Amino acid sequence: MRPLADAQQFVLEAVPAPRTTTVDRVAAGGLVLAEPVVSTEIVPPFDNTAVDGYAVRAADVDGAGERPVELVVAGEIAAGAGPDTPVEPGTCVRIMTGAPMPPGADAVVMVERSERLGVDGDGVERVRLSESVPVGAAVRRAGDDVHVGDELFPAGVEVTPPVEAVLASVNAQTLHVYARPTVAVLSTGDELITDGSPLEPGQIRESNLTMLRGMLAEAGCDVVDLGVIRDDEAELERVLRDATERCDAIVSSGGVSMGDYDVVKAVLGRIADMHWMQIAIKPAKPFAFGTLTRADGATVPIFGLPGNPVSSLVSFELLARPALRQMAGHATITRPRLRAVADADFRRRPDGKTHFARCQGDFAEDGRFHVRPVGAQGSHQLAATATADAMTMLPDGNGVAAGDDVDVVLLRG
Ligand code: AMP
Ligand code: MG
Repeated sequence: MRPLADAQQFVLEAVPAPRTTTVDRVAAGGLVLAEPVVSTEIVPPFDNTAVDGYAVRAADVDGAGERPVELVVAGEIAAGAGPDTPVEPGTCVRIMTGAPMPPGADAVVMVERSERLGVDGDGVERVRLSESVPVGAAVRRAGDDVHVGDELFPAGVEVTPPVEAVLASVNAQTLHVYARPTVAVLSTGDELITDGSPLEPGQIRESNLTMLRGMLAEAGCDVVDLGVIRDDEAELERVLRDATERCDAIVSSGGVSMGDYDVVKAVLGRIADMHWMQIAIKPAKPFAFGTLTRADGATVPIFGLPGNPVSSLVSFELLARPALRQMAGHATITRPRLRAVADADFRRRPDGKTHFARCQGDFAEDGRFHVRPVGAQGSHQLAATATADAMTMLPDGNGVAAGDDVDVVLLRG
């Protein structure tokens, strides 16, 4: 049996480097920057007020905290309006958050410290201000967030919604990013039914494709669903060769177990450079990894996951997902790992394998992540595993008892 870390490293070294491409900013969500982004604009673009209130000359409200002052309201500026009314000594301008500072004003008194006095007989409006503010109070200076020429984000940063917002704020239109890998997914087996018809003896309903499509999308891949391929060598070969020309990687489920004579083995053995592995983990011991070569010479990795649904999930998480994340240019390719507290026994027998028992878990008052096993741990029992939050990484031995520490890998985040 091959140690998991060894197999992971083998796969990571064998997959092709990320491809780069140029995309419109609006299509960049979830992608990783392949080049630093340098700003060509400043943010904010002009001096503006951080509060609703009155733009004043600070000297005019000196001492207003003790003895309120009355100023003439020379005008009003809403956000989006031009700052055309100047503030002369003895006057102020009513101003809304985000509106540009009018010429002559150097501070803003917030509306909570004002009292409207109304319009007198000459048509002059006045306000009473009861706060003394220093020059610059509540003023957001042009460029105090971003300057022209600032490196906003280095290469390797993922375009999350806030990052995309910053890119919008400086009018970045196109971005150099790592391309989202296009990944073909298929499952194999004559027993698998997808059309909802009544089951004939020996048939089961296909479920791995549904799971893997979603897990690939979550990992940041574009998915090409090749469906269920019957146990037919010519058909499987045609489908795989076609996928090799169109996709960056292929994920298949089924047909990689030890004793199997399977068309998957026969076909891949013929058209790909394959490594049939027995990994020292439970579940998901069988795993196949290989590379196909495209007509243009490009390398297309294929991940052959076992067919048992829980094994498929575990194998995808531990071996395919990190490699696909690396192909998408992500700096962090693995899920978070942490030392948790076992709230129940995790018993096992020595067998030379690391056991990935699926568990439910949460952070408790003590600040630690506490885990307990999901009910059924069979490799076909996906119903119990489906809502798992984490998997233990139980080293060979007899397991751990309730109250002990146990290393886990989270299945989210
Ligand atoms: P295999 O890896 O092809 O030997 O399949 C192992 C077990 O997983 C068998 O019980 C299969 O019926 C089952 N299986 C294989 N592929 C799927 C699938 N796509 N959906 C649900 N079960 C599957
Ligand atoms: Mg099969």
